[in-house]
Amino acid sequence: MFETETLRVLAEALATLEGEFSALPPISTPNTDSAGSVLQEVARRLGDNFPYFHPLYAGQMLKPPHPVARAAYALATWINPNNHALDGGRASTAMEREAVAQIAAMFGFRTHLGHLTGGGTMANLEALWVAGRLHPGKKIAASAQSHYTHRRMSGVLQLPFAEVPADARGRMDCDALEAMLASGEIGCVVASLGTTATGSVDPLPAILELRKKYEFRVHVDGAYGGYFTLADNLAPETRAAFDAIHQADSIVIDPHKHGLQPYGCGCVLYSDPSVGALYKHDSPATYFSSRELHLGEISLECSRPGASAVALWATMRLLPLVRGGEFAKGLACCRRAALDFHHRLAADPRFVTPFSPDLDIIVWAPKTGSAESIFREAARRNLHLAMARLPGSFFGSSEPEVPALRSVLMKPEHHDWLERIWDILDQATNAAAKQQFD
Ligand SMILES: *Cc1c(COP(=O)(O)O)cnc(C)c1O
Repeated sequence: MFETETLRVLAEALATLEGEFSALPPISTPNTDSAGSVLQEVARRLGDNFPYFHPLYAGQMLKPPHPVARAAYALATWINPNNHALDGGRASTAMEREAVAQIAAMFGFRTHLGHLTGGGTMANLEALWVAGRLHPGKKIAASAQSHYTHRRMSGVLQLPFAEVPADARGRMDCDALEAMLASGEIGCVVASLGTTATGSVDPLPAILELRKKYEFRVHVDGAYGGYFTLADNLAPETRAAFDAIHQADSIVIDPHKHGLQPYGCGCVLYSDPSVGALYKHDSPATYFSSRELHLGEISLECSRPGASAVALWATMRLLPLVRGGEFAKGLACCRRAALDFHHRLAADPRFVTPFSPDLDIIVWAPKTGSAESIFREAARRNLHLAMARLPGSFFGSSEPEVPALRSVLMKPEHHDWLERIWDILDQATNAAAKQQFD
């Protein structure tokens, strides 16, 4: 079930890497006598997990890394470069800059400054920090459906936060936003493309239009959805939002979500490279050995894994970020699976579906009975869904919140597995209904 061919190519690449250092006198290697038994124990411990790698895991936003990412990451750990400074990771710093430049090009940024981070939280924190430095004391505005990190990180940064209402499709309400902008108190608007709960895509063109009347920064949070700009089957409104991204001041994207990377890989990009000056520090440890840019000079995090940059670079080498390419097709496939799933749910009288998915997240609620018992019955049959408490307005309900089911179909294989997934959901829903009347 697991891909293991890359173990062989990893061993070959490791021999090549060792050859790069053949001028050095040999050294002894650590004693690994007990490593086998420890690893056996680790393997058994890791069995205590949902099968995130399997298409029947269709719950939270979890996706296995590409085999080449896994192997490149492992290969890099023999060197263990630190991308804080060129002294700690020359090659991996160059690879990080190349990888980040490709992501900036994917979004159509003509100039950029950016780097990888530990994840979307850190990347968003940096973008909001820059917004706060440029518009001191002004509010960060994000929709009620935006990731909770925006409110929380605004608190960390001691910047006031304004919540913009979301409409019945989970998108930012731009009339409400305009009313807030008119107060002159907002310094940065966060547009989510798309939201973590439902994959809803905020109307970025309308938000950008408001910049003609009011002065504020636009930050795009594409931690989850950013890569969908490559998909060729978005609805026109969604396409228009992605096509406008290049006009944003900053963008966040998480290669560890849809970019096939192991965890620990987020990315922040700025369209204006001069914001780099805001990061200036005067550390007494002036150990930078080169006058070239060290990524630690434009990052809030200090030590960062060079291995993350190497894994991302290798993945993009194999699967370039181009429309019509294999990677782009994978994303289009996820969206097709989500649309297909949505149509089945919408046609079934047992379920209520709020809206058709913008990306690859589907939410629905049972018309009667409990979402939780369907969730449990599905899990007993090896289909893993997720639960979500969503605004009643999504479902035309007067309740503030509705307990719903949620499925992120983020593996391209999900499309081929949809029939199986549907069969199990059908059985689980019937079993849950039967329990209710027993
Ligand atoms: C996941 C996510 C985040 C947080 O990113 P982490 O990588 O989990 O730290 C922020 N915003 C959005 C839209 C997300 O989906």
